[in-house]
Parts: sequence; structure tokens; C-alpha cells
Amino acid sequence: MSHRLINGRDVAAQVTEALEDRLQALRAQDTNPGLAVVVVGDDPASHVYVRMKGKACERLGMLSRTHILPSTTSEDDLLDLIDALNADGEIHGILCQLPLPPHINERKVIERIDPRKDVDAFHPYNVGRMLIGDPLFLPATPAGVQRLLISHDIETRGKHVVVLGRSNIVGKPMASILMQKGEGGDATVTVAHSRSTDLPGLCRQADILIAAVGIPFFVKADMVKEGAVVIDVGTNRVDDPGSEKGYRLVGDVDFDNVKEKAAAISPSPGGVGPMTIAMLMENTVKAAEMTLRP
Ligand code: NAD
Repeated sequence: MSHRLINGRDVAAQVTEALEDRLQALRAQDTNPGLAVVVVGDDPASHVYVRMKGKACERLGMLSRTHILPSTTSEDDLLDLIDALNADGEIHGILCQLPLPPHINERKVIERIDPRKDVDAFHPYNVGRMLIGDPLFLPATPAGVQRLLISHDIETRGKHVVVLGRSNIVGKPMASILMQKGEGGDATVTVAHSRSTDLPGLCRQADILIAAVGIPFFVKADMVKEGAVVIDVGTNRVDDPGSEKGYRLVGDVDFDNVKEKAAAISPSPGGVGPMTIAMLMENTVKAAEMTLRP
């Protein structure tokens, strides 16, 4: 079957371009969106993501502030920094890169962020608003998946979507977003996870299969219905001694084999990843707009 490639880089560029007018309108009112990214410790993947977020801000001329704290930072010191950022008029969006070191209570930190600056939308207030279908912000990765589907005219209404993974960051919000009423929603959603039985059978029922398990090449061709749409959220490092870095990034989907069955498929890298960054920029612009129209 000839498949259609879902190109996240192109759609992300469109999302970013569409922010230019909104940025101009904000600047005409003396407001330039500012994003503060906090990272604690030296998880190499976190530092890569943080750099990408900073660069995306700079490309748009937005203020970007990165706070890199040692892994020994106390919970109280981190909470003090969040308080300062909450009070900082130049900062409209705050995100704290997860995971945090084990001695810091992640929930406590997330709940300290002002919900109106919570551009990751992980605060329980924003999770609740998403669930009732009245969001301030949507979490960037699942919102990016939804935008990818809409931009490729992939109908979700009445479709059976199987989401693989139930994390608070991807799987759960993904399911919540797709079951809402309206464009890019109205789907019948199944959430499958590590305790699900007959996973291949469940996946084969999917009109749209979204993989967010964090296991390289987890989704094989025999788990995919002929003509299904496959979205790969996974970003996994696998050893690659031949490459300069010694590793390469792969998704959760066995792309080369699955593409033969899929009607449309997103690659990883180059699919959901760029969308995540673009949606984060959109959330930060929205956060700045909200300060002008409370
Ligand atoms: P996670 O580890 O928090 O959650 C993984 C989920 O997969 C869990 O709910 C678990 O139940 C499920 N799972 C694990 N093993 C399974 C199995 N054998 N069978 C069925 N389900 C299983 O991970 P996460 O934060 O949700 O991230 C998932 C993947 O998406 C990772 O590769 C991550 O790097 C990637 N990710 C990418 C982006 C992006 O911007 N592209 C953003 C966030 C996460």
C-alpha cells in the first residue's frame, strides 16, 4: 500500500508562521512573550529538549530564559524559583523539565506554577479544564498530534483511536483531547498500556494508532490494520557506534515495515517532535495574550 508521510516539520513551520501576526499585535501593546524553562540535574535528553525550546523562542524573537540547576538543588530552592517566575512580569510561560531528581516532589513543583503560566498544562487545574473541554492550554505533545491529524485532513470523528501508553504527559491527555466534541475530536478512544491483554489484537482494531510507549520498534506490522493511520510519539535513543554521537533516535514504530500497511504514518524523528515545540510556542503566545485580556 502506498502510504502518505505525515511531515511534522512542515506543519510545525506553519504553526510557527501563524504566530507572527499575533506576536506583532502583542508587541504593539508592549508585550513580548517570555518563556522560562527550568531544568534540574544533568539528564542529557532534558538538556537537548531545553536547548531546542530556547532556540525556538529566539527564532520568533521571544524572550527565553533557561535556569539550569544542579541535581542537588533542594525542593525549597526550586519552589522559590517558581515563585519568583510566577511574579515576574516578563515571563508568561513557565515549564519545569521532567523528570526531576527523586528527592524533589514533582507534583508539588507542578502545582506551584501559576496555572495561567503553565504552558505545559500539567497543573491539575489545567488537566481538569482539558477534561471538561474548556482548556486554557493543551499539553504540547498530544495537542501537536491532534494538529497533525487536522492538518492532514485525517478525520477523527467516529473513528476508533487506540492510544498506546497512559502517561500523564502523553497517553492520558491524548485520549482526553480526542474524545472531546468538535474538530479533531469525536473519536472513540481505547487506551492500552503495560497491563492490557491482547495488545496486538487491540491495535489491529485501530483506525488511528498512536504509539507512546517509549520502546523502540514496539509497533510491528502485524499489529496494524491495513489502511490505518499511525502516529509515532516515541523518541528513543538506540546505540549506533557508527554515528558521530554514538546513538541515534528512533520511534516506537517499526517504520519500514509498518509503512507498507498504513494509509498515513508519521516518522520519528520528524513527526510529533517538531510539533511539540511549535505547540509550546503557541501556548506561550496565548499566555502572553491572556495577560492583556484577563
Ligand atoms: P512513559 O514511560 O511515562 O509512559 C509509557 C507508557 O507506555 C506507560 O503508560 C506504559 O503503561 C506503557 N507501556 C510501557 N510498556 C508497555 C508495553 N510493553 N505494552 C504496552 N504499554 C506499555 O513515557 P511517556 O512520557 O508517555 O513517553 C512515551 C514516548 O514518547 C517516549 O519514547 C518519549 O520519549 C516520547 N515522547 C516524545 C515527545 C515528543 O515531543 N515527541 C514528548 C513526550 C514523550
